[in-house]
Amino acid sequence: MMMNVPLVLTSVLERAETIFPKKTVVSRTASGIQRYTYKEIGERTRALASALAELGVKRGDRVGTLAWNDHRHLEAYFAVPCMGAVLHTINIRLPKDHLSYIINHAEDKVLLVDRQFLPLIEAIKDELYTVRAFVILGDEAEVPETALAPVYAYESLIAAGDRRYRFPQDLDENEPSGMCYTSATTGLPKGVVYTHRSSVLHALTLGLVDTLGLSEADVCLPIVPMFHVNAWGTPYACTYFGSTLVLPGPNVTPKVIAELIEAEKVTTASGVPTVWLGLAKELQERPHKTDSLRAVICGGAAAPKGLIRLYEEKLGIPFIHAYGLTETSPLVSVARLKSYQNDLPEEEKWEIRATQGLIVPGLQAKLVGENGEAAWNGKEMGELWLRGPWVADEYYKDERSREAFTDGWLHTGDIATIDEEGFVKIVDRAKDLVKSGGEWISSVDLENALMAHEAVFEAAVIAVPHPKWQERPIACVVLKEPYQATTSKEDLLDYLRPQFAKWWLPDDIIFLDEIPKTSVGKFLKRALRERFKNHLTSASDPSMA
Ligand code: AMP
Repeated sequence: MMMNVPLVLTSVLERAETIFPKKTVVSRTASGIQRYTYKEIGERTRALASALAELGVKRGDRVGTLAWNDHRHLEAYFAVPCMGAVLHTINIRLPKDHLSYIINHAEDKVLLVDRQFLPLIEAIKDELYTVRAFVILGDEAEVPETALAPVYAYESLIAAGDRRYRFPQDLDENEPSGMCYTSATTGLPKGVVYTHRSSVLHALTLGLVDTLGLSEADVCLPIVPMFHVNAWGTPYACTYFGSTLVLPGPNVTPKVIAELIEAEKVTTASGVPTVWLGLAKELQERPHKTDSLRAVICGGAAAPKGLIRLYEEKLGIPFIHAYGLTETSPLVSVARLKSYQNDLPEEEKWEIRATQGLIVPGLQAKLVGENGEAAWNGKEMGELWLRGPWVADEYYKDERSREAFTDGWLHTGDIATIDEEGFVKIVDRAKDLVKSGGEWISSVDLENALMAHEAVFEAAVIAVPHPKWQERPIACVVLKEPYQATTSKEDLLDYLRPQFAKWWLPDDIIFLDEIPKTSVGKFLKRALRERFKNHLTSASDPSMA
């Protein structure tokens, strides 16, 4: 029998403190670039834990953060769970009523709030029933003018804190370490609680060479916010492995990303497709040195094949497509070719690279269709169900758990196929599939095809009600500037025609200046559906003539 040593985040921090004390965390804050070694991060983390203990934070209490990706947020990532409390990362872009709902629902006792978000919290302070103290994150050691009380400056707490604070030695690996709320299609956000064990196992998985292969030699730039699924677990993985972390701070633009990649010699960066679309545009307009990059990691929404090819063929930057959910910590699958697939025709390889990939070691998947389990033949569709040590088994104190979990399996809400090789292809979110005359049309496939057109910057395909077919797809397209005067709806339909069955073609293509985005940068299809819900039923619509 082996030792039953608990998998706790304290061991992740201690490894960086003892083995990689000289490695650095680069943090872009409101006042510029700051550099800390893991030794310093460890000391500041312990000082923060001692200060939180002084403020009354006890084992199991929730501590909320409204913060950018910076060194202070990283310190909270360790101080809170390692002292036995629970880190609640709050999405700063939620509407006000959702913000107060999740803070009350999680029963946050202390809030760590970046200076920039003070107005956000001041506006809802009277609706927060459990918060006992506010800590203001910023480079200054003074407390700014604020209506919040009692209020403390983070840096003054760190200065006065105990840099040798000892974390409890009796943490159980199944104790909660963090929580994150995910937006529901309808209704209020749903809470997911991570444990020490799930966080450590998930971090280890990011180091596998067949997943993301994160290692000591990496310089990692998580652009995905630390308030969204723990920045995909990169802060924990990088600290564990001693990788250099580059935390991009507030107001990240494509220019900021390009400059950080060049200046810090970033090797891996992670973000949603819209981030990579923006960076590609920036790099094409203003070349930067990017040859340090060994991979950009793209997840959170489907990476169009055209985007992958643009990065690899035009920009010379390797591109990895991965898939996951808040409920799964998030890593579920990574699209890498199997060794014997390297000889396949180029086109087929791009197809595989644009799938959501192979389920990572540790997780199990199945497809559940209308008539039971669907076969793994690349054709039969079903809802993807998952289980594994870093998959949630319920929502936090939420009745909706009943619909989302069955016999130890999570229903992802994603409709997928899995082929004989095991590659998962997400056909659509269940709610985004277009049901036309009883047949399914994948909005994702149409979007990917459109986004491979040279004139198209972004494309979102939505289902709109149709009197005859129940629903039909329409495409909302943003054209790249130079093509705006010269590209017509017919050009795009002609381009799609050879690629799809006739009945898949969008009934209309609408040109927009911008596709509305969710708080984490994904297409906000709900808003488009609402805006265009009468598009095919109104008298002026040509398809009704
Ligand atoms: P969230 O919990 O906000 O991270 O959203 C999770 C959802 O994003 C999944 O259920 C998918 O619908 C979608 N998603 C994440 N990654 C991908 C991907 N690589 N391809 C397609 N959809 C994705």
